[in-house]
Amino acid sequence: MLPGGDEMSVHDPIGASGRMDLASRFKARYVGALVALGVMVTAMFISAMALTDAETRSLASINVAGRQRMLSQKIALLSLELLHAEYDSERVRVSLNSAITLMEESHAGLVEGSGAMGLRAPSAESALGRLYKEPPHQLDARTRRFLEQARSWAAAPPEERVSGDGRLEYILREANGELLVLLDRAVTLFQVDSEQAFGGVRVAFVALFVMTLAGLLVVALLVFHPMARLIKEETDRLVSIQREQRLKADEQEWSSRLQDALDMVDGELELLTVVERAMGLTSDGRSMELLLADASDAHVHQAAVHPAHGGPGCGVESPWGCTAVRRGHEMLFESSRALNACPRLVERAGDACSAMCVPVAFMGRSLGVLHVAGAEHEPPSPEERSRLTLMASLIGSRIGTVRTFERVQLQAATDPLTGLINRRTLQERLRELKQESARFALAMVDLDHFKRLNDTYGHDVGDQALSVFTKVATEALGERGFAARFGGEEFVVVMPGLGVEEGEGLLNRIRERLALTLRGEKTPAFTASFGLADTTMSRDASSLLRCADQALLRAKSEGRDRVVIASIEDGVGVSEAPVVRLEETGGVRRAG
Ligand code: GH3
Ligand code: MG
Ligand code: MG
Repeated sequence: MLPGGDEMSVHDPIGASGRMDLASRFKARYVGALVALGVMVTAMFISAMALTDAETRSLASINVAGRQRMLSQKIALLSLELLHAEYDSERVRVSLNSAITLMEESHAGLVEGSGAMGLRAPSAESALGRLYKEPPHQLDARTRRFLEQARSWAAAPPEERVSGDGRLEYILREANGELLVLLDRAVTLFQVDSEQAFGGVRVAFVALFVMTLAGLLVVALLVFHPMARLIKEETDRLVSIQREQRLKADEQEWSSRLQDALDMVDGELELLTVVERAMGLTSDGRSMELLLADASDAHVHQAAVHPAHGGPGCGVESPWGCTAVRRGHEMLFESSRALNACPRLVERAGDACSAMCVPVAFMGRSLGVLHVAGAEHEPPSPEERSRLTLMASLIGSRIGTVRTFERVQLQAATDPLTGLINRRTLQERLRELKQESARFALAMVDLDHFKRLNDTYGHDVGDQALSVFTKVATEALGERGFAARFGGEEFVVVMPGLGVEEGEGLLNRIRERLALTLRGEKTPAFTASFGLADTTMSRDASSLLRCADQALLRAKSEGRDRVVIASIEDGVGVSEAPVVRLEETGGVRRAG
């Protein structure tokens, strides 16, 4: 698993701006929905009020009608009682009058539809209206006449109140006969009427309730459902953006760590160690290798492999044998059995596999390829692929930089014609030897009559001669010393751990080998003179060079093609000699 691939937590993925956008997109819809809901709820409320009102009115009407019936009975009873009352006739008369008044009032209320009593005037067309207004029943006229008779009976002086008066008989007859029947019918009609009114309002209420439910459903379908879907889509989109950003951040962190690690390495070997460590953290159970081209660009070799899963072992021999290198971009192979699989995969022994190859390059120059192989049909995931591509690019630029740096360093430290270290590098090596307090012998070498050779055969032949001498000297010295080009046709030979005696032998071997070599070469014969000194004469590199130089002068004057060992005297008094200190000039220069 690639590092950094852990699950992420998503806090408020929509964000304030997302919410604003959603709100504006749904503003018209939800304002409409709110208005519709408001209207429906108000209608529900009004119908509920109407229902309550209808119920209250019908109950009030029925109550009043029932009371009329009860009052008519009471009036009849009190009228009868008044006939026989003696000492309390006044009390009975008052009771009778108040019952009459009550009945008059409630009758007026019934006929007019008194709002205070919670009543409705019966319409002329209704059964109730007909009962009140139309003959033969004429409840209204009958009640009024009944009340008139009762009032007259109550108002009559006691001596007039006798049996057979006619009024009392009328009251009793009405209260127990026709009026009672009519009032009973009125109660029933009130009940029927209120049932109808109540039923109508109830139907309206149920219809409104159903409409409100339907409205809610419509609102849910038109507003909340699409809004929820949109919010989900937005959330998913933002989650995926966040995931991408997270992956990018992981990748950046990974790349900056790898970059850091690569920046810290000094040479190519160290760099390959970092590459292997990076491979160990990258490949998800796949084998991996870095194939690099050699200096000639003709061959590739396995430079680094996955520490745990090893390298797939691609059989490609040259960089241009690799398809990914040729095409200049990464190649992904689902299966080594596919028709268009890389030929190097097809020919590979073992089970079929999937693979990815990423070219490693520096400034457009191919350096090699990063190759990954895994189970068939399980190629690296897009995240892994992008990480491998990144890795190849970082490795490429670092290898390129390291190689360029090494080349520049080498160029600065060596002489381009002979490949030997130059005077500056010699100075550093001598300083190191001095610091180590190591014993060493040092010779100044000058090719004899070199000007003549140049003049006779040309400068190119002179250059050739310098190369021949370098080759001979290097081979003769082997591990026992090294040579530096001091300038022109002059060299310095350093032999660590040796004194002048052993040194002289080695230098003579160079002389002899040179003569031997030149016999078979096209290069014209030439010789060299050597002035030899060692650290017993001076521990100071400059003084030692001066000693050797003095000895060289003697070798020249004594006939050339020889080794002359410096004497103590060569060091004495040479401070006046035309040799300047190494530290000051980066070398020695002889005048003349
Ligand atoms: P001696 O035996 O006294 O040292 O005589 P010489 O001719 O070797 O000495 P001199 O100093 O007179 O001449 C040195 C010559 O070396 C002069 C110069 O042309 C030649 N020389 C110096 N550097 C190079 C080089 O890089 N290539 C070639 N071809 N010639 C060089
Ligand atoms: Mg010279
Ligand atoms: Mg010379």
